[in-house]
Amino acid sequence: MNVTEVHSHLISHNIKPSVQRVAIMQYLMEHKTHPTIDQIFNHLLPHIPTLSKTTVYNTLKLFYDKRAVLALTIDEKNVRYDAEVTAHAHFKCKKCGSIQDICLEETDIPPFKGSNKLILEDTQVYFMGICEKCTSNN
Ligand SMILES: [Zn+2]
Ligand SMILES: [Zn+2]
Repeated sequence: MNVTEVHSHLISHNIKPSVQRVAIMQYLMEHKTHPTIDQIFNHLLPHIPTLSKTTVYNTLKLFYDKRAVLALTIDEKNVRYDAEVTAHAHFKCKKCGSIQDICLEETDIPPFKGSNKLILEDTQVYFMGICEKCTSNN
């Protein structure tokens, strides 16, 4: 992953690219596994010994507020983060807990029929089942 790509993703979402922000965003852009805060923190700590979990938490909150990441609540135990912010759905394996991307076009989502006073900001589409790896291990 080119650091310039990480910088431009941050800048295009009005986020100043500090060293820690770049490291966290780079991890997310390189690992499409939808990691948790703990996974991100544990991976980056050896590279950035001054990093705290609070910093990771606050940085992800900033990314989320600026819409530079998705925060997925598909996993009941932990919020999972995703740097891919274009419309796509997620599939969670009940057996191994892995979460993978499912291609979904904006036009695949049925029109929003709520009250016109509701402001739609986020759509999350989840599928659950058994992943390919777990199916072939049976
Ligand atoms: Zn699985
Ligand atoms: Zn995703």
